[in-house]
Amino acid sequence: MRKPFVAGNWKMNTDSSSCVELSEGIASGATETASAKATVAVFPPFVYLPSVIKALGTSNVSVGAQDVYFEANGAFTGEISTSMLKDIGCTYCLCGHSERRHVIGETDELINKKVAATIAGGLLPVLCVGELLSEREASKTNDVVTRQLEKGLAGLSEEKASAVTIAYEPVWAIGTGLTAKPEQAQEVHDFIRKLLANMYSDELAEAIRIQYGGSAKPDNAAELMAQPDIDGLLVGGASLKADSFLAIIQGAI
Ligand code: PEP
Repeated sequence: MRKPFVAGNWKMNTDSSSCVELSEGIASGATETASAKATVAVFPPFVYLPSVIKALGTSNVSVGAQDVYFEANGAFTGEISTSMLKDIGCTYCLCGHSERRHVIGETDELINKKVAATIAGGLLPVLCVGELLSEREASKTNDVVTRQLEKGLAGLSEEKASAVTIAYEPVWAIGTGLTAKPEQAQEVHDFIRKLLANMYSDELAEAIRIQYGGSAKPDNAAELMAQPDIDGLLVGGASLKADSFLAIIQGAI
């Protein structure tokens, strides 16, 4: 059985007081469920990571970064390394979120370096994949997801790949209010799991968690999670209010 994994991606939101307020709200509601029935994590902006880690205290809600650079240290102005993230208490790191692919322009090759560095640095990557609307309309979803997974995981041994969580996030559903129908998402999750079985093994494919992301909300969490290959949710907008994020966690367990 794969334990549900619900994560909140705060993107470029919150400030020094609202990040603490949001963390405290999540911590007070999620302590029991987080430890028993689900893995829960939040991904705040870099500058608020220490405050969020402190505010979450012993709640069992984990913390991750929204991005990382693949080099260990040195002359990389503006960048943050995995050892810095590990040093302050992060557990996870998003790699290849669609906004980094399509707004910032990250390539599959760069994302692959970030995934490998994240694992080498002792953090757990969440590798995000997903197609644009034009790619779905051109029946290219499986091709896009195959390319992103094969290139994103290139060079990783089975042992290393087992540290990865995959987030399937159709770009047309992110921040748009358009959620993929549960069956539509399940179809791609099933495809991803079969692809992982081909790339690695049935054991790895059965064990790895595949989250869905794209306008997940309290009122659609349970129906998405009812699908056999949807193991969790990566939540953007609806994770910025403790009540709605907690309701999503409840819907997911
Ligand atoms: C995301 O940022 O990964 C996301 C899925 O956002 P939203 O839930 O707002 O669509």
